[in-house]
Amino acid sequence: MRVFKFGGASVKDAAGIKNVYDVLQKAGYEDVLLVVSAMGKTTNALETVIKNYFDKSAELNSSVQEVKKYHNQILMDLFEEEKHEVFTAVNNQFSELEYFLAHNKSPNYNFVYDQIVSYGELISTTILSHFMSFMGIKTQWLDVRNYIKTDATYRDAEVDWELTQKNIAKNVKRKILNITQGFLGSDENNFTTTLGREGSDYTAAIFAYCLNAESVTIWKDVPGVMNADPRYFENASLLNQISYREAIELAFYGATVIHPKTLQPLQKKEIPLFVKSFINPLLPGTRVAKGADLEPYLPCFIVKRNQLLISLSSIDFSFIMEENISEIFALFHQFKIKVNLIQNSAISFSVCVEDKFENFKDLNAILSKKFKVEFDENVTLYTIRHFNDKAAATVEENKTVLLKQVSRETMQVVTKEN
Ligand code: ADP
Ligand code: ASP
Ligand code: MG
Repeated sequence: MRVFKFGGASVKDAAGIKNVYDVLQKAGYEDVLLVVSAMGKTTNALETVIKNYFDKSAELNSSVQEVKKYHNQILMDLFEEEKHEVFTAVNNQFSELEYFLAHNKSPNYNFVYDQIVSYGELISTTILSHFMSFMGIKTQWLDVRNYIKTDATYRDAEVDWELTQKNIAKNVKRKILNITQGFLGSDENNFTTTLGREGSDYTAAIFAYCLNAESVTIWKDVPGVMNADPRYFENASLLNQISYREAIELAFYGATVIHPKTLQPLQKKEIPLFVKSFINPLLPGTRVAKGADLEPYLPCFIVKRNQLLISLSSIDFSFIMEENISEIFALFHQFKIKVNLIQNSAISFSVCVEDKFENFKDLNAILSKKFKVEFDENVTLYTIRHFNDKAAATVEENKTVLLKQVSRETMQVVTKEN
Protein backbone atom coordinates (compact mmCIF):
# COMPACT_ATOMS: atom_id res chain seq x y z
CA MET A 1 0.00 0.00 0.00
CA ARG A 2 1.10 3.58 -0.64
CA VAL A 3 0.11 6.60 1.44
CA PHE A 4 -0.35 9.98 -0.26
CA LYS A 5 -0.79 13.23 1.58
CA PHE A 6 -2.38 16.29 0.03
CA GLY A 7 -2.01 19.49 2.03
CA GLY A 8 -4.11 22.63 2.15
CA ALA A 9 -2.36 24.28 -0.79
CA SER A 10 -3.15 21.35 -3.09
CA VAL A 11 -6.91 21.49 -2.42
CA LYS A 12 -7.42 25.21 -2.05
CA ASP A 13 -10.00 25.48 -4.85
CA ALA A 14 -11.93 23.43 -7.42
CA ALA A 15 -8.99 23.47 -9.83
CA GLY A 16 -6.79 22.07 -7.07
CA ILE A 17 -9.20 19.22 -6.39
CA LYS A 18 -9.42 18.42 -10.09
CA ASN A 19 -5.64 18.42 -10.10
CA VAL A 20 -5.62 15.82 -7.30
CA TYR A 21 -7.67 13.64 -9.64
CA ASP A 22 -5.03 14.18 -12.38
CA VAL A 23 -2.21 13.35 -9.99
CA LEU A 24 -4.00 10.11 -9.07
CA GLN A 25 -4.42 9.24 -12.75
CA LYS A 26 -0.67 9.65 -13.24
CA ALA A 27 0.58 8.18 -9.97
CA GLY A 28 -2.03 5.40 -9.71
CA TYR A 29 -4.65 5.01 -7.00
CA GLU A 30 -5.08 1.32 -6.41
CA ASP A 31 -4.11 0.31 -2.90
CA VAL A 32 -3.66 3.93 -1.93
CA LEU A 33 -4.64 5.80 1.22
CA LEU A 34 -5.08 9.54 0.83
CA VAL A 35 -4.56 11.76 3.84
CA VAL A 36 -6.03 15.19 3.21
CA SER A 37 -5.81 18.52 5.05
CA ALA A 38 -8.35 21.29 5.31
CA MET A 39 -8.77 23.33 2.13
CA GLY A 40 -6.46 26.34 1.67
CA LYS A 41 -6.39 28.48 4.80
CA THR A 42 -9.50 26.94 6.38
CA THR A 43 -7.72 26.05 9.63
CA ASN A 44 -6.76 29.70 10.11
CA ALA A 45 -10.32 30.77 9.30
CA LEU A 46 -11.67 28.32 11.90
CA GLU A 47 -9.16 29.63 14.43
CA THR A 48 -10.78 33.03 13.91
CA VAL A 49 -14.20 31.46 14.54
CA ILE A 50 -12.92 30.00 17.83
CA LYS A 51 -11.44 33.30 18.88
CA ASN A 52 -14.70 35.09 18.08
CA TYR A 53 -16.61 32.47 20.04
CA PHE A 54 -14.52 32.97 23.18
CA ASP A 55 -14.45 36.75 22.77
CA LYS A 56 -18.26 36.68 22.39
CA SER A 57 -17.63 38.78 19.30
CA ALA A 58 -20.39 40.10 17.07
CA GLU A 59 -18.35 38.74 14.16
CA LEU A 60 -18.88 35.11 15.19
CA ASN A 61 -21.68 34.42 12.77
CA SER A 62 -20.05 36.18 9.84
CA SER A 63 -16.80 34.30 10.40
CA VAL A 64 -18.69 31.00 10.19
CA GLN A 65 -20.53 32.19 7.09
CA GLU A 66 -17.21 33.00 5.44
CA VAL A 67 -15.98 29.42 5.85
CA LYS A 68 -19.31 28.15 4.52
CA LYS A 69 -19.24 30.45 1.52
CA TYR A 70 -15.72 29.40 0.60
CA HIS A 71 -16.64 25.69 0.60
CA ASN A 72 -19.93 26.30 -1.17
CA GLN A 73 -18.15 28.03 -4.01
CA ILE A 74 -15.85 25.02 -4.38
CA LEU A 75 -18.87 22.70 -4.39
CA MET A 76 -20.62 24.74 -7.08
CA ASP A 77 -17.47 24.73 -9.21
CA LEU A 78 -17.05 20.96 -8.87
CA PHE A 79 -20.56 19.59 -9.08
CA GLU A 80 -22.83 21.11 -11.66
CA GLU A 81 -26.08 20.53 -9.89
CA GLU A 82 -26.95 21.40 -6.37
CA LYS A 83 -28.96 18.19 -6.22
CA HIS A 84 -25.80 16.20 -5.71
CA GLU A 85 -25.83 14.56 -2.26
CA VAL A 86 -22.50 16.18 -1.32
CA PHE A 87 -24.33 19.50 -0.80
CA THR A 88 -26.46 17.93 1.93
CA ALA A 89 -23.49 16.12 3.44
CA VAL A 90 -21.43 19.31 3.76
CA ASN A 91 -24.42 21.28 4.92
CA ASN A 92 -24.98 18.75 7.71
CA GLN A 93 -21.38 19.12 8.82
CA PHE A 94 -21.80 22.89 9.07
CA SER A 95 -25.03 22.37 11.04
CA GLU A 96 -23.14 20.17 13.49
CA LEU A 97 -20.50 22.85 13.90
CA GLU A 98 -23.15 25.51 14.54
CA TYR A 99 -24.97 23.21 16.95
CA PHE A 100 -21.75 22.76 18.90
CA LEU A 101 -21.20 26.54 19.08
CA ALA A 102 -24.76 27.08 20.27
CA HIS A 103 -24.75 24.35 22.94
CA ASN A 104 -21.19 23.95 24.16
CA LYS A 105 -20.69 24.59 27.87
CA SER A 106 -16.98 23.76 28.12
CA PRO A 107 -14.78 26.73 28.97
CA ASN A 108 -11.67 24.77 27.96
CA TYR A 109 -10.19 26.68 25.00
CA ASN A 110 -8.05 23.83 23.71
CA PHE A 111 -10.89 21.32 23.91
CA VAL A 112 -13.26 23.64 22.04
CA TYR A 113 -10.51 24.42 19.53
CA ASP A 114 -10.19 20.78 18.52
CA GLN A 115 -13.95 20.20 18.32
CA ILE A 116 -14.28 23.13 15.90
CA VAL A 117 -11.07 23.20 13.89
CA SER A 118 -11.54 19.53 12.92
CA TYR A 119 -14.43 20.46 10.62
CA GLY A 120 -11.84 21.77 8.16
CA GLU A 121 -10.55 18.25 7.49
CA LEU A 122 -13.93 16.52 7.89
CA ILE A 123 -15.41 18.76 5.21
CA SER A 124 -12.45 18.71 2.81
CA THR A 125 -12.37 14.89 2.78
CA THR A 126 -16.13 14.72 2.32
CA ILE A 127 -15.87 16.93 -0.74
CA LEU A 128 -12.84 15.13 -2.10
CA SER A 129 -14.25 11.64 -1.74
CA HIS A 130 -17.56 12.62 -3.35
CA PHE A 131 -15.64 14.19 -6.21
CA MET A 132 -13.45 11.11 -6.76
CA SER A 133 -16.58 8.90 -6.81
CA PHE A 134 -18.24 11.36 -9.18
CA MET A 135 -15.22 10.96 -11.49
CA GLY A 136 -15.60 7.18 -11.34
CA ILE A 137 -12.97 6.21 -8.76
CA LYS A 138 -14.20 3.76 -6.15
CA THR A 139 -13.48 5.37 -2.80
CA GLN A 140 -13.97 4.75 0.86
CA TRP A 141 -14.21 7.69 3.29
CA LEU A 142 -12.66 6.87 6.63
CA ASP A 143 -13.27 8.85 9.79
CA VAL A 144 -9.72 9.03 11.10
CA ARG A 145 -11.04 9.42 14.65
CA ASN A 146 -11.96 5.73 14.59
CA TYR A 147 -8.33 4.86 13.83
CA ILE A 148 -5.91 7.28 15.43
CA LYS A 149 -6.37 7.22 19.19
CA THR A 150 -4.62 9.77 21.36
CA ASP A 151 -4.43 11.13 24.88
CA ALA A 152 -6.57 14.14 25.77
CA THR A 153 -3.90 16.82 25.28
CA TYR A 154 -6.09 18.92 23.03
CA ARG A 155 -4.22 20.78 20.25
CA ASP A 156 -1.09 18.71 20.76
CA ALA A 157 -2.26 15.15 21.32
CA GLU A 158 0.07 12.17 21.78
CA VAL A 159 -0.70 9.09 19.72
CA ASP A 160 -1.57 5.84 21.50
CA TRP A 161 0.38 3.62 19.12
CA GLU A 162 -0.89 0.30 20.39
CA LEU A 163 -4.58 1.11 19.99
CA THR A 164 -3.97 2.95 16.72
CA GLN A 165 -2.05 0.02 15.28
CA LYS A 166 -4.89 -2.34 16.19
CA ASN A 167 -7.58 -0.15 14.65
CA ILE A 168 -5.69 0.40 11.42
CA ALA A 169 -4.64 -3.20 10.94
CA LYS A 170 -8.17 -4.54 11.11
CA ASN A 171 -10.17 -1.87 9.33
CA VAL A 172 -8.42 -0.36 6.31
CA LYS A 173 -9.58 -2.05 3.10
CA ARG A 174 -7.06 -2.61 0.35
CA LYS A 175 -7.59 -2.43 -3.44
CA ILE A 176 -9.61 0.74 -3.12
CA LEU A 177 -8.89 4.44 -2.76
CA ASN A 178 -9.18 5.21 0.95
CA ILE A 179 -9.61 8.87 1.87
CA THR A 180 -9.11 10.16 5.38
CA GLN A 181 -8.40 13.33 7.37
CA GLY A 182 -4.97 14.52 8.35
CA PHE A 183 -4.28 16.24 11.68
CA LEU A 184 -7.11 14.63 13.70
CA GLY A 185 -7.48 11.86 16.22
CA SER A 186 -9.74 11.09 19.15
CA ASP A 187 -9.29 10.49 22.84
CA GLU A 188 -10.65 7.67 24.98
CA ASN A 189 -14.01 9.44 25.34
CA ASN A 190 -14.15 9.80 21.55
CA PHE A 191 -13.73 13.56 21.66
CA THR A 192 -11.83 14.95 18.71
CA THR A 193 -8.17 15.79 19.27
CA THR A 194 -5.55 17.34 16.96
CA LEU A 195 -1.88 16.50 16.51
CA GLY A 196 -0.54 20.07 16.29
CA ARG A 197 -0.65 22.57 13.44
CA GLU A 198 0.60 21.22 10.12
CA GLY A 199 0.17 17.73 11.56
CA SER A 200 -1.21 16.04 8.43
CA ASP A 201 2.23 14.88 7.28
CA TYR A 202 2.49 13.08 10.61
CA THR A 203 -0.90 11.41 10.05
CA ALA A 204 0.42 10.02 6.76
CA ALA A 205 3.44 8.60 8.60
CA ILE A 206 1.24 7.05 11.32
CA PHE A 207 -0.83 5.20 8.72
CA ALA A 208 2.26 4.17 6.75
CA TYR A 209 3.84 2.75 9.88
CA CYS A 210 0.74 0.81 10.92
CA LEU A 211 0.08 -0.47 7.39
CA ASN A 212 3.72 -1.33 6.67
CA ALA A 213 3.26 0.84 3.60
CA GLU A 214 5.58 0.65 0.65
CA SER A 215 6.08 4.45 0.65
CA VAL A 216 4.64 7.82 1.63
CA THR A 217 4.35 10.67 -0.87
CA ILE A 218 3.58 14.20 0.26
CA TRP A 219 2.44 16.33 -2.66
CA LYS A 220 3.54 19.94 -2.44
CA ASP A 221 3.53 23.23 -4.32
CA VAL A 222 7.34 23.01 -4.56
CA PRO A 223 9.47 20.55 -6.59
CA GLY A 224 10.54 18.75 -3.39
CA VAL A 225 12.72 19.54 -0.40
CA MET A 226 15.10 22.32 -1.39
CA ASN A 227 18.18 23.62 0.37
CA ALA A 228 16.13 26.66 1.45
CA ASP A 229 12.52 27.81 1.40
CA PRO A 230 12.12 29.09 -2.19
CA ARG A 231 9.70 31.73 -0.90
CA TYR A 232 12.59 33.51 0.83
CA PHE A 233 15.70 32.35 -1.06
CA GLU A 234 15.86 33.05 -4.78
CA ASN A 235 18.48 30.45 -5.61
CA ALA A 236 17.13 27.46 -3.75
CA SER A 237 18.06 24.10 -5.32
CA LEU A 238 16.27 20.79 -5.20
CA LEU A 239 17.72 18.07 -2.97
CA ASN A 240 17.40 14.67 -4.66
CA GLN A 241 18.19 12.40 -1.74
CA ILE A 242 18.24 13.00 2.00
CA SER A 243 18.87 10.43 4.75
CA TYR A 244 16.30 10.12 7.54
CA ARG A 245 18.82 11.54 9.95
CA GLU A 246 19.50 14.63 7.88
CA ALA A 247 15.77 15.12 7.21
CA ILE A 248 14.99 14.87 10.93
CA GLU A 249 17.62 17.55 11.57
CA LEU A 250 16.24 19.83 8.84
CA ALA A 251 12.64 19.42 10.05
CA PHE A 252 13.68 19.85 13.68
CA TYR A 253 15.42 23.15 12.91
CA GLY A 254 12.26 24.30 11.15
CA ALA A 255 12.25 23.36 7.45
CA THR A 256 8.45 23.51 7.35
CA VAL A 257 8.16 21.46 4.18
CA ILE A 258 8.06 18.32 6.39
CA HIS A 259 6.45 18.19 9.83
CA PRO A 260 9.18 17.13 12.28
CA LYS A 261 7.20 14.23 13.79
CA THR A 262 6.77 12.60 10.37
CA LEU A 263 10.18 11.05 10.02
CA GLN A 264 10.67 8.92 13.09
CA PRO A 265 7.92 6.35 12.40
CA LEU A 266 9.07 6.08 8.78
CA GLN A 267 12.71 5.67 9.75
CA LYS A 268 11.83 2.88 12.17
CA LYS A 269 10.47 0.76 9.35
CA GLU A 270 12.66 2.25 6.62
CA ILE A 271 9.64 3.37 4.64
CA PRO A 272 10.78 5.88 1.98
CA LEU A 273 9.23 9.34 1.95
CA PHE A 274 8.85 11.13 -1.36
CA VAL A 275 8.24 14.86 -1.48
CA LYS A 276 6.89 15.71 -4.90
CA SER A 277 5.28 18.51 -6.85
CA PHE A 278 1.54 18.25 -7.37
CA ILE A 279 2.05 20.46 -10.40
CA ASN A 280 4.57 18.12 -12.05
CA PRO A 281 3.71 14.75 -10.51
CA LEU A 282 5.93 12.76 -12.84
CA LEU A 283 9.14 14.49 -11.76
CA PRO A 284 11.12 12.52 -9.18
CA GLY A 285 11.14 15.18 -6.42
CA THR A 286 13.03 14.37 -3.23
CA ARG A 287 13.55 10.93 -1.76
CA VAL A 288 14.05 10.67 1.98
CA ALA A 289 15.37 7.20 2.65
CA LYS A 290 18.35 5.13 3.68
CA GLY A 291 21.40 6.12 1.65
CA ALA A 292 23.36 9.28 0.96
CA ASP A 293 23.02 11.95 3.66
CA LEU A 294 22.47 14.82 1.29
CA GLU A 295 22.66 14.77 -2.45
CA PRO A 296 23.66 17.27 -3.82
CA TYR A 297 25.74 18.29 -0.82
CA LEU A 298 24.82 21.95 -0.24
CA PRO A 299 24.48 24.28 2.73
CA CYS A 300 20.82 24.17 3.86
CA PHE A 301 19.14 27.31 5.18
CA ILE A 302 16.26 27.34 7.62
CA VAL A 303 14.50 30.47 8.80
CA LYS A 304 12.28 30.76 11.84
CA ARG A 305 10.60 34.11 12.24
CA ASN A 306 8.72 35.54 15.22
CA GLN A 307 11.08 34.12 17.76
CA LEU A 308 11.67 35.42 21.23
CA LEU A 309 15.21 35.77 22.56
CA ILE A 310 15.18 35.58 26.35
CA SER A 311 18.21 36.19 28.56
CA LEU A 312 18.10 35.31 32.21
CA SER A 313 20.78 36.34 34.64
CA SER A 314 21.06 35.83 38.33
CA ILE A 315 20.11 38.83 40.41
CA ASP A 316 22.95 38.37 42.91
CA PHE A 317 25.78 37.31 40.57
CA SER A 318 25.42 33.69 41.62
CA PHE A 319 26.00 31.04 38.98
CA ILE A 320 23.23 29.65 36.84
CA MET A 321 23.78 25.96 37.39
CA GLU A 322 22.08 22.64 36.70
CA GLU A 323 19.52 23.21 39.39
CA ASN A 324 18.34 26.54 37.99
CA ILE A 325 18.53 25.28 34.44
CA SER A 326 16.38 22.25 35.15
CA GLU A 327 13.85 24.46 36.90
CA ILE A 328 13.81 26.89 33.96
CA PHE A 329 13.28 24.04 31.50
CA ALA A 330 10.48 22.57 33.55
CA LEU A 331 8.77 25.96 33.30
CA PHE A 332 9.24 26.17 29.53
CA HIS A 333 7.74 22.72 29.26
CA GLN A 334 4.84 23.59 31.52
CA PHE A 335 4.06 26.74 29.49
CA LYS A 336 4.43 24.87 26.18
CA ILE A 337 7.17 27.20 25.00
CA LYS A 338 9.47 25.53 22.51
CA VAL A 339 13.18 26.11 22.96
CA ASN A 340 15.06 26.35 19.67
CA LEU A 341 18.51 27.39 20.87
CA ILE A 342 20.35 27.51 24.19
CA GLN A 343 23.49 29.36 25.25
CA ASN A 344 24.80 29.80 28.76
CA SER A 345 27.62 31.48 30.59
CA ALA A 346 28.43 31.62 34.28
CA ILE A 347 25.75 34.03 35.36
CA SER A 348 23.49 34.25 32.37
CA PHE A 349 21.44 31.93 30.25
CA SER A 350 19.95 32.76 26.84
CA VAL A 351 17.33 30.89 24.88
CA CYS A 352 15.66 31.51 21.56
CA VAL A 353 12.11 30.24 21.88
CA GLU A 354 8.80 30.03 20.09
CA ASP A 355 5.76 31.04 22.10
CA LYS A 356 3.07 29.45 19.93
CA PHE A 357 0.41 29.55 22.60
CA GLU A 358 1.21 33.09 23.81
CA ASN A 359 2.18 32.03 27.31
CA PHE A 360 5.35 34.09 27.77
CA LYS A 361 3.68 36.88 29.73
CA ASP A 362 2.59 34.45 32.43
CA LEU A 363 5.92 32.67 32.43
CA ASN A 364 7.79 35.97 32.67
CA ALA A 365 5.88 36.84 35.83
CA ILE A 366 7.25 33.69 37.45
CA LEU A 367 10.80 33.97 36.09
CA SER A 368 11.14 37.62 37.09
CA LYS A 369 10.81 36.68 40.76
CA LYS A 370 14.12 34.81 40.61
CA PHE A 371 16.05 36.19 37.67
CA LYS A 372 16.72 39.37 35.82
CA VAL A 373 14.81 38.78 32.59
CA GLU A 374 15.61 40.57 29.34
CA PHE A 375 14.00 39.75 26.05
CA ASP A 376 13.83 40.73 22.39
CA GLU A 377 10.61 40.03 20.55
CA ASN A 378 10.22 39.33 16.85
CA VAL A 379 13.72 38.12 16.20
CA THR A 380 14.66 35.68 13.45
CA LEU A 381 16.57 32.46 13.93
CA TYR A 382 18.66 31.32 10.96
CA THR A 383 20.04 27.83 10.94
CA ILE A 384 22.55 26.69 8.33
CA ARG A 385 23.29 22.99 8.14
CA HIS A 386 26.63 22.25 6.44
CA PHE A 387 27.54 25.94 6.49
CA ASN A 388 30.50 27.56 4.79
CA ASP A 389 31.80 31.14 4.90
CA LYS A 390 29.73 32.29 1.97
CA ALA A 391 26.54 30.84 3.42
CA ALA A 392 27.25 32.44 6.80
CA ALA A 393 27.81 35.84 5.20
CA THR A 394 24.46 35.67 3.39
CA VAL A 395 22.42 35.45 6.57
CA GLU A 396 24.35 38.10 8.48
CA GLU A 397 24.18 40.68 5.72
CA ASN A 398 22.36 43.90 6.74
CA LYS A 399 21.24 42.52 10.07
CA THR A 400 22.14 42.93 13.72
CA VAL A 401 23.42 39.65 15.07
CA LEU A 402 22.18 39.14 18.63
CA LEU A 403 23.56 35.66 19.21
CA LYS A 404 25.53 33.11 17.27
CA GLN A 405 26.34 29.48 17.87
CA VAL A 406 28.50 27.20 15.78
CA SER A 407 28.91 23.46 15.98
CA ARG A 408 30.56 21.06 13.55
CA GLU A 409 27.63 20.76 11.14
CA THR A 410 25.34 23.57 12.12
CA MET A 411 25.50 27.30 12.55
CA GLN A 412 22.69 29.25 14.20
CA VAL A 413 22.32 33.01 14.19
CA VAL A 414 19.65 35.07 15.94
CA THR A 415 19.15 38.39 14.17
CA LYS A 416 17.05 41.48 14.26
CA GLU A 417 16.20 43.16 10.96
CA ASN A 418 17.83 46.60 10.65
P1 ADP B 1 0.97 21.79 2.68
O1 ADP B 1 0.07 22.28 1.61
O2 ADP B 1 1.29 20.35 2.54
O3 ADP B 1 0.54 22.15 4.05
P2 ADP B 1 3.15 23.55 3.25
O4 ADP B 1 2.72 24.89 2.82
O5 ADP B 1 3.08 23.21 4.69
O6 ADP B 1 2.35 22.48 2.39
O7 ADP B 1 4.62 23.22 2.73
C1 ADP B 1 5.06 23.65 1.48
C2 ADP B 1 5.82 24.95 1.64
O8 ADP B 1 6.98 24.71 2.44
C3 ADP B 1 6.38 25.51 0.36
O9 ADP B 1 5.46 26.31 -0.30
C4 ADP B 1 7.63 26.27 0.80
O10 ADP B 1 7.39 27.66 0.81
C5 ADP B 1 7.85 25.81 2.23
N1 ADP B 1 9.22 25.36 2.50
C6 ADP B 1 9.92 25.64 3.65
N2 ADP B 1 11.13 25.12 3.61
C7 ADP B 1 11.25 24.49 2.42
C8 ADP B 1 12.30 23.74 1.82
N3 ADP B 1 13.47 23.55 2.43
N4 ADP B 1 12.06 23.20 0.60
C9 ADP B 1 10.89 23.37 -0.02
N5 ADP B 1 9.87 24.08 0.51
C10 ADP B 1 10.03 24.63 1.70
N1 ASP C 1 -5.09 21.84 8.51
C1 ASP C 1 -4.07 21.73 9.55
C2 ASP C 1 -3.26 23.01 9.60
O1 ASP C 1 -3.44 23.89 8.77
C3 ASP C 1 -3.20 20.52 9.42
C4 ASP C 1 -2.33 20.48 8.18
O2 ASP C 1 -2.63 21.16 7.21
O3 ASP C 1 -1.36 19.74 8.17
O4 ASP C 1 -2.47 23.16 10.49
MG1 MG D 1 0.62 22.81 5.73
